[in-house]
Amino acid sequence: MVLMDRLGRPHDYLRLSLTERCNLACAYCHPVGGEQIVPEELTWDEILFAARVLVERAGVRKIRLTGGEPLVRRDLSGGLSRLGALRRELGFELALTTNGVHLSSWLPALERAGIRSLNVSVDSLNAQRFKAITRVDALPGVLEAVRQAEEAGLKVRLNMVVLRDMNLDEVDGAAAWALESGRHLRFIEYMPFGSNGWRSGRLVPYGELLARLQANHRLEALAADPHAVSMDYASPGKPGRIGFIASMTRSFCGGCNRLRITGRGRFRPCLFSKPGEEVDLRPSLAARDADAFLAAIQGSLDLKSPGHESPQDLATRMTRPMQAIGG
Ligand code: SAM
Repeated sequence: MVLMDRLGRPHDYLRLSLTERCNLACAYCHPVGGEQIVPEELTWDEILFAARVLVERAGVRKIRLTGGEPLVRRDLSGGLSRLGALRRELGFELALTTNGVHLSSWLPALERAGIRSLNVSVDSLNAQRFKAITRVDALPGVLEAVRQAEEAGLKVRLNMVVLRDMNLDEVDGAAAWALESGRHLRFIEYMPFGSNGWRSGRLVPYGELLARLQANHRLEALAADPHAVSMDYASPGKPGRIGFIASMTRSFCGGCNRLRITGRGRFRPCLFSKPGEEVDLRPSLAARDADAFLAAIQGSLDLKSPGHESPQDLATRMTRPMQAIGG
């Protein structure tokens, strides 16, 4: 069985939030007015059950751990090794999205669990600016952890959210750094989420960013797979790549294969789902009822829209904060 929505889109990629907690308070993400999240977490028994059912019975072939910040989950060590054992038994791909602050110390455990690819958020390559955006002085440690992960042979992609008044002035330098140092840096369009203070003027459309970068770099578009969210470019003679995740100005919903389970165990068919489209998986997880669990997910998937609303429309309704969804 493969999970399908009404449009016939097969869904075989799970983004699983381990916690809503985060150790950064990024200006564009953290709810305006401070901490509004009272974290609740699925137990590892529930997480392992969900992963097993989705892989064994619903054809999920890839699970990405995210959050909040997945590496601040308190009982991570034991859970990761159990997930690693399940991965070895069932053979799915395991990946992680992190802000990298605790990456260095977790790297050996991540490798033991079989994680071979990481997305690391780096919104500025300038230490002062990084601190101003995230409210934590952590850039050198994040870049060192990226280097260690690369040295260990992991595939690392760097993600940079671009805001006009925050870091647009850095994109040229960051692109040059990535292209020349052999890294893959993806620029993400700024999205509206509950209480993140979104304003259209802060969004830098990818077309504008691409034109700006093309003025200084020879960029050639690379072929993308049908589920890709990023449009990637190489520059002849340079080892790196840059990409654009243009969630707001270019729809890639047609190829969506993503399932999302939030930190507190709710299933969301889309990052921008409306409240009525979400379903609470905890009753079926607590009962270890695989049929009810899959039926709940299918019921929610049946409500999945062909695409999401415009950023202006999204900004007028309160979606959950990003850290309560799982990015
Ligand atoms: N803590 C991890 C991290 O920093 O990568 C995982 C969770 S975080 C919510 C996942 C990604 O979502 C990060 O790359 C972050 O920059 C991005 N993100 C958060 N809020 C966003 C927003 N309003 N617009 C665009 N990207 C956003």
